[in-house]
Amino acid sequence: MQATELSAQCAGCARASRRAYRFHELEGVRLRCLGCALTHRPLLRRSLSIALVVGTVLVAINQGDALLGGHWNGALAWKVPLTYVVPFVVATWGALLNCRVSLDATPSKEDVNGDRAGPSRRRARP
Ligand SMILES: [Zn+2]
Repeated sequence: MQATELSAQCAGCARASRRAYRFHELEGVRLRCLGCALTHRPLLRRSLSIALVVGTVLVAINQGDALLGGHWNGALAWKVPLTYVVPFVVATWGALLNCRVSLDATPSKEDVNGDRAGPSRRRARP
Protein backbone atom coordinates (compact mmCIF):
# COMPACT_ATOMS: atom_id res chain seq x y z
CA MET A 1 0.00 0.00 0.00
CA GLN A 2 1.29 3.42 -0.94
CA ALA A 3 1.42 5.88 1.96
CA THR A 4 -0.04 9.27 1.22
CA GLU A 5 1.63 12.36 2.67
CA LEU A 6 -0.72 14.56 4.62
CA SER A 7 -0.03 17.97 6.03
CA ALA A 8 -1.68 20.20 8.56
CA GLN A 9 -1.88 23.94 8.61
CA CYS A 10 -0.24 25.51 11.66
CA ALA A 11 -2.62 27.57 13.78
CA GLY A 12 0.23 29.99 14.57
CA CYS A 13 1.96 30.76 11.27
CA ALA A 14 -0.45 29.08 8.78
CA ARG A 15 2.37 27.05 7.20
CA ALA A 16 1.65 23.50 6.11
CA SER A 17 3.67 20.91 7.99
CA ARG A 18 3.83 17.12 7.85
CA ARG A 19 4.57 16.99 11.57
CA ALA A 20 2.38 18.90 13.96
CA TYR A 21 1.94 19.35 17.70
CA ARG A 22 -1.54 19.27 19.20
CA PHE A 23 -2.54 21.84 21.82
CA HIS A 24 -5.82 22.05 23.72
CA GLU A 25 -6.72 25.73 23.75
CA LEU A 26 -9.82 27.76 24.53
CA GLU A 27 -10.81 27.62 20.86
CA GLY A 28 -10.44 23.83 20.85
CA VAL A 29 -7.69 21.51 19.69
CA ARG A 30 -5.22 23.31 17.44
CA LEU A 31 -2.18 22.05 15.55
CA ARG A 32 1.08 23.97 15.52
CA CYS A 33 4.40 23.52 13.74
CA LEU A 34 7.59 22.94 15.75
CA GLY A 35 8.62 26.60 15.69
CA CYS A 36 5.24 27.77 16.92
CA ALA A 37 5.08 24.95 19.48
CA LEU A 38 8.44 26.00 20.92
CA THR A 39 7.19 29.57 21.37
CA HIS A 40 3.75 28.59 22.69
CA ARG A 41 3.37 30.58 25.92
CA PRO A 42 1.51 27.97 28.04
CA LEU A 43 4.14 25.36 27.18
CA LEU A 44 6.98 27.76 28.02
CA ARG A 45 5.28 28.82 31.26
CA ARG A 46 4.88 25.21 32.39
CA SER A 47 8.47 24.33 31.45
CA LEU A 48 9.77 27.38 33.32
CA SER A 49 7.76 26.42 36.41
CA ILE A 50 9.15 22.89 36.31
CA ALA A 51 12.68 24.20 35.76
CA LEU A 52 12.35 26.58 38.70
CA VAL A 53 11.25 23.86 41.12
CA VAL A 54 13.48 21.03 39.90
CA GLY A 55 16.46 23.33 39.29
CA THR A 56 16.26 24.77 42.78
CA VAL A 57 16.16 21.30 44.33
CA LEU A 58 19.11 20.18 42.21
CA VAL A 59 21.12 23.30 43.05
CA ALA A 60 20.41 22.72 46.74
CA ILE A 61 21.54 19.09 46.48
CA ASN A 62 24.61 19.65 44.30
CA GLN A 63 25.83 23.14 45.26
CA GLY A 64 24.07 23.80 48.56
CA ASP A 65 27.12 23.26 50.73
CA ALA A 66 29.24 25.61 48.60
CA LEU A 67 26.54 28.28 48.49
CA LEU A 68 25.75 28.14 52.21
CA GLY A 69 29.44 27.89 53.15
CA GLY A 70 30.30 30.97 51.13
CA HIS A 71 32.71 29.05 48.90
CA TRP A 72 31.70 30.80 45.73
CA ASN A 73 33.96 30.01 42.82
CA GLY A 74 33.90 30.59 39.09
CA ALA A 75 32.48 27.17 38.32
CA LEU A 76 29.21 28.06 40.05
CA ALA A 77 28.66 30.74 37.41
CA TRP A 78 27.97 28.04 34.80
CA LYS A 79 26.91 25.14 37.01
CA VAL A 80 23.94 26.88 38.62
CA PRO A 81 22.37 28.20 35.38
CA LEU A 82 22.97 24.86 33.66
CA THR A 83 21.19 23.13 36.53
CA TYR A 84 18.07 25.14 35.63
CA VAL A 85 18.46 24.67 31.87
CA VAL A 86 18.44 20.86 32.02
CA PRO A 87 14.95 20.44 33.57
CA PHE A 88 13.62 23.16 31.25
CA VAL A 89 14.83 21.26 28.19
CA VAL A 90 13.59 17.92 29.51
CA ALA A 91 10.14 19.32 30.36
CA THR A 92 9.82 21.02 26.97
CA TRP A 93 11.02 17.97 25.09
CA GLY A 94 8.67 15.68 26.99
CA ALA A 95 5.72 17.96 26.36
CA LEU A 96 6.48 18.13 22.63
CA LEU A 97 6.85 14.36 22.38
CA ASN A 98 3.56 13.95 24.20
CA CYS A 99 1.58 16.22 21.88
CA ARG A 100 3.30 15.30 18.62
CA VAL A 101 1.05 14.23 15.78
CA SER A 102 2.47 12.48 12.75
CA LEU A 103 0.27 12.93 9.74
CA ASP A 104 1.36 9.70 8.11
CA ALA A 105 -1.65 8.29 6.27
CA THR A 106 -0.46 4.71 6.70
CA PRO A 107 -3.04 3.12 8.98
CA SER A 108 -1.77 1.96 12.34
CA LYS A 109 -2.83 -1.29 13.98
CA GLU A 110 -5.36 0.64 16.07
CA ASP A 111 -6.78 2.34 12.98
CA VAL A 112 -7.21 -1.00 11.23
CA ASN A 113 -8.99 -2.45 14.24
CA GLY A 114 -11.28 0.56 14.36
CA ASP A 115 -10.15 1.69 17.79
CA ARG A 116 -9.20 5.17 16.66
CA ALA A 117 -10.25 7.53 13.95
CA GLY A 118 -8.11 9.97 12.03
CA PRO A 119 -4.42 9.99 11.12
CA SER A 120 -2.02 7.83 13.05
CA ARG A 121 -0.11 9.33 15.97
CA ARG A 122 2.69 6.85 15.46
CA ARG A 123 6.06 8.04 14.28
CA ALA A 124 6.58 8.19 10.56
CA ARG A 125 8.51 5.25 9.18
CA PRO A 126 11.62 6.05 7.14
ZN1 LIG B 1 3.74 27.57 12.85
